[in-house]
Order: sequence, then structure tokens, then C-alpha cells
Amino acid sequence: MNINSNSYRHWQLEVNAEGVVWATLDKVGESTNSLSAAVMDELARILDELDSHPPKGLVFRSGKPAGFIAGADIQEFSLVDSAERGIELVARGWQLFNRLAAVSYPTLALVRGHCLGGGLELALACRYLLAVDEPTTRMGLPEVMLGIVPGWGGMLRLPERIGPQAALDMMLTGKTIDAKKARRLGLADDCVPARVMDNAAASLVLAEQPRRRPPMLQRLLNGPFKGLVAAGARKQVAKRARAEHYPAPYAIIDIWARYQGNALAAPELIDNIFRSATARNLVRVFFLQERLKGFGKGTEFRARRVHVVGAGVMGGDIAAWCALRGLSVTLQDQGMERIAPALQRAYAVWRQRVRDARELRNIMDRLIPDPDGHGARHADVVIEAIFENLDAKRELLASLERVMRPEALLATNTSSLKIEDLRGVLTRPARLIGIHFFNPVAKMPLVEVVAAEGSDPEIVQRGNAFVRQIDRLPLPVRSAPGFLVNAVLGPYMLEAMRAVDEGLTPETIDEAMLAFGMPMGPIELIDMVGLDVAMAAGSSLAGAGATPPACLLARFNAGHLGKKVGKGFYDYPNGRPAKGPAGAVPAGLAARLVKPLLERTQQLVSDGIVADADLADAGVIFGTGFAPFTGGPLNYLRNQHA
Ligand code: NAD
Repeated sequence: MNINSNSYRHWQLEVNAEGVVWATLDKVGESTNSLSAAVMDELARILDELDSHPPKGLVFRSGKPAGFIAGADIQEFSLVDSAERGIELVARGWQLFNRLAAVSYPTLALVRGHCLGGGLELALACRYLLAVDEPTTRMGLPEVMLGIVPGWGGMLRLPERIGPQAALDMMLTGKTIDAKKARRLGLADDCVPARVMDNAAASLVLAEQPRRRPPMLQRLLNGPFKGLVAAGARKQVAKRARAEHYPAPYAIIDIWARYQGNALAAPELIDNIFRSATARNLVRVFFLQERLKGFGKGTEFRARRVHVVGAGVMGGDIAAWCALRGLSVTLQDQGMERIAPALQRAYAVWRQRVRDARELRNIMDRLIPDPDGHGARHADVVIEAIFENLDAKRELLASLERVMRPEALLATNTSSLKIEDLRGVLTRPARLIGIHFFNPVAKMPLVEVVAAEGSDPEIVQRGNAFVRQIDRLPLPVRSAPGFLVNAVLGPYMLEAMRAVDEGLTPETIDEAMLAFGMPMGPIELIDMVGLDVAMAAGSSLAGAGATPPACLLARFNAGHLGKKVGKGFYDYPNGRPAKGPAGAVPAGLAARLVKPLLERTQQLVSDGIVADADLADAGVIFGTGFAPFTGGPLNYLRNQHA
């Protein structure tokens, strides 16, 4: 069989001896494959060509080591500025993948590495999906995170393939699954090691094996019982996202349940979604996140060993996280009895997260208790996370510097002490940086990388790279009280407590900010942070003479320190706040509460604590959960005044 393999820029076509065409996507000029208009046009031409000479089979694979296909081209989608262009964009993929799904010859997607969004929709349009069992193989439809819907067939085919509950769970949360889970759910027909993937693909595509049908119950749920499933899904979504802030998840449920997954049948929904401020802002957040990731580049530095001193709330969790991410970690504290609880905590949490017993054991083996601190000598990164005491930290840092390798990174996790005050004891003061994690470490994506006047830029760069290496988002900030995140949260929490002092209930205040779009109300946040921490932060951020709010002082004096003791502004009978009814929220309350946060963010940008407004937005979103659909505090301010 002859194919015209030279007429495509992004695809390479080859035919094997059995007459199977291998279509390899290797997008020109990019390290990652995405389905741009050009790539899709070429795919349409390939299908034209194969229509006239049908092959025995067609296998899609990627020419990129990074993965299969990362999704549609987000740049192109962000240019959608009219209803017609939105519809055109959806139609392009919907029609092409319907055409692919209907071809007469068998088709297979060989999925290795990421296979997301439009990439998974392409794979779903193939008769078979063969997943390669590697840690980087992840499949998902994360469109909802960009405020849009999987309109290229995902809403039709994923529920057909794996049943609507698992499919909606993936589409509504954006979460991804690995190769084994894909096979378990029936998304992948099989999952094989990389060394046999080509042979396995070549034989599966010709196997004439019927696709596994989902069990009867799933077919009923995807048919006559759609309404029930949809109602349940709407309730679940309502717990996390309000429709006025995040229309996309609701649209996904509707398009699946009422329009057979065909977004083109609901043009008004598409227009609402694609041109919404939410989608625009979530795309902005996506690019901000890419920018933060970029800070990890530009150095060869890769850590293998980490030494953490202080096995408390933060140190214990930082160590556990680094071990999870593949680093060898030594954890030092004043005795085994202080270290053991951190190890137990790590085991309890990772056991839930890591199903594979051998992998779990490897992670725990990498987390080594080190009461005598021997690990400091060999580590590439040393992180100090002992309690917040200047003298104790200075003494510790000096002793660490004496034994550390000269090229190793030395960092403090301090929240409120100045790098300048800590580093005076070092022989090389320029080497100390802050690597400021947030609590809980495993949930908070942001890490502030703190440079002081005269810090060595190469070391700061390594700090950024280390943070990336452990899959967190580095935000470079200058040394100043509270850096960015705590500095903006302080005045916001203070204003919330002033409102309590004026007689508003915590419930009303929290409801005002939940309705604004915050993931958690400010009063509940104070309970979570701890009222003792809020007291200390208040005096260090606002000055020792500042009067704390009466509601804070009274609870602090009574020992009601928040969630950790079961009582703060709220009671925590079962780990969750027992809240009464919120009552009517006074007009303008949210605007009043958020104002100090917005003003402080602006101030920190003009003071140069963070380099520019976009980075400040990124930091406040990823460090505090500030309503992502707004695109960040400063973007929100700009839009208010627009
Ligand atoms: P913590 O009180 O839970 O733990 C501190 C640990 O340090 C204790 O286990 C203690 O035994 C140990 N320690 C004290 N002196 C030591 C020494 N000389 N050698 C070895 N171990 C020693 O404290 P934490 O909340 O984990 O805070 C640690 C650091 O992280 C502080 O600098 C804090 O400002 C910062 N931080 C805390 C949070 C938070 O939410 N708790 C968030 C970000 C940063």
C-alpha cells in the first residue's frame, strides 16, 4: 500500500508488512504535542487519504518522549472572541473525531505519557486504547480546570466507555488516572510495559477483539437513569463550585445528560462557557502556573539527598513530601520520640495515596530518622524547620554550615523571621535562602523562595529548581515580613475579626467570602492556622504595640486555639466546624473584607517584594486559594475598574 507520508508536517506515516499504518504525531517546533488547527487539518487529510486506500489498521502514537498529546492548543482557544469562533472550534474536533470513530478499519491509540483533553478524546474515538504502564502515563479530561468542556467527544465517549459515574468524576474534577487504573475502569483495553508496546499495539489492532462492554448497570446509568446520575452529580458539584462562578461543570452534566454529549446541540451553553470571564481567567491562571514552573529551569542542579531539621508540623511533612517525590531524606529532631510521630503521620497519609505496597515501602525507606543529624554532611539541600525562635535557629544554622558540603543549599522555612537576621552567624551569609512551604505541605502547591539583599542569585535559582523538582510551584519573593502570602492574608483575617468584634457572626462572615468564591471563609481559616499563630503573626506583622481584636484575644486567653484543640471560633466535634446558619449577609461585606487583601497585594508589588502583578496574582491564588475564577486579586481589581 502506498501512502503519501511526505505531505504532512506534524505527522509521520509508515506502513508495516501487515498493512497497518502507524501515524506518529511529532508536532514541529514543540516539545509537547497539542492538537492545534494545523495538526487537526492534517489529521483530516490523513483520514481522506486512508478513505481511498483503507489500511488493515491504524495506530496513533507520539514521537515525543514527553507524552502522547497534552490536549488542544490553549493559545488558540484563548483567542475565541465570538460565538461563531467558539462553535467552529468545538465543531472542528467533534466532527473529525466522529469521523475517526466511524472508519471501517480498526484503530488504536498507543498511549504513553500524558494523554489529556483533546488527546484523550482522540484516543477515545479509536476502537482500542493501549496504555503503557509507566509513572508518567496519565489520562484525563481536565478541560473543566480551564473553565471549558470536553466538547470533542469526551462527554459522549468517556461515559460510554467507563460508565457515567467514573466519567463524570474525571470530567468534573479534572483528575487524571494512570495506566493500571485506566485498564481497571475499562478506558484502556490493556496496559503493557514500554518494551513490548509496539508489538502489543500491532497485534491488538488486528485482533478483531470486540471492545469490552461496560457492565449492565453502567449502561443503565448511561441510559434510562441518566437523570438520577445527573442530579447526584449536580449536588456533588454544588458543594465545591457555585454555578455563577464556575458554569463549566454544570454544563458538562447537562450536555451529557440532555444532549448526548454533543455540545453543538447546545450552542448557547458553549457560548456562555467559551466566552465567559471565568474561562478567560482560568486560562490566565493556567499560564501563570506555567510561568511559575518556568522558574525551575535554567540550572542543572538536581537534589538527591535532603536533610530536614525539625520534625514538627512543617518539617515532618516537608520530609515526607520529599521522600514521596523520590528524594532520599534524613529527618533530624531532638530525639527519636520527636521524629517517630512524623514518620507515623507520613505512613498513614501515603498509605492512602500509594496503592502499590512495594512503592510505599520504598518511600518509607527513603525517609530516614536521623536524631544525630549525620545526614547534613551528605545532603544536597538542608532545610531548617525548627520552631520560630531567632536564637535557636541561628545556633542551628551555624552548626549546620560547619558540616555541610560547600555547594549544598541551605534554607530556612521561617514564616516571620528575617533572612538578614538569621544569616549573620554564617561564614557565607549569601548562601542562606528561605524555602517557605505552606501547611498542609501535600495540599498547598505554592512554595515561596525567599531572597534577601545580597543573596547569591545562583543559590536562589537552585532553590527554585529544587521546589520544581519536588513538584511544587516556586514563587520568588524578597525577604520581608510575611513575604507575599502571609502578608496579604494578615490584614484580610484582621478585618474579618474586626467584623466579629462589631457583632457579625463567624458564619455570616465566612458565608460572605464563600459567596465571593474563596475556598474557605476567613474565620475558619484562622481556626485552621491556629489562634496562637494568628496572635504571633499579628504582632510580628502589625508591630508589637498593635491591639489584637477582642474576639481573638479572649479565645486565645481561654486556650481556644482553633481546630487543633477542637475549639476556636467554631467547635470541632468531629474535625469539622460545627456551623450555625449564616443568616443574611450584609451588602458590601465581601468587598469590605477583601479590600485590605487587595490593597496589601498592590503594596507588595510596588515595594518589589514580588516582581510583578501577575506573579502576585499567581502567588495569592496558589498560596491561599484566592478565587481562581477571578484570575487573582489584582486581575480582579483591574476588572472591577474596567
Ligand atoms: P513545630 O513546633 O511543630 O515543630 C518544631 C520542631 O522543631 C519540634 O519538633 C522541635 O522538637 C524541633 N526542634 C526545635 N529545636 C530544635 C533543634 N535545635 N534541633 C532539632 N530540632 C529542633 O513547628 P512548625 O509549626 O513545624 O514550624 C517550624 C517552622 O516552620 C517555623 O519556622 C515556622 O515559622 C515555619 N512555618 C510554619 C507553618 C505552620 O503552619 N505551622 C507554615 C509555614 C512555615
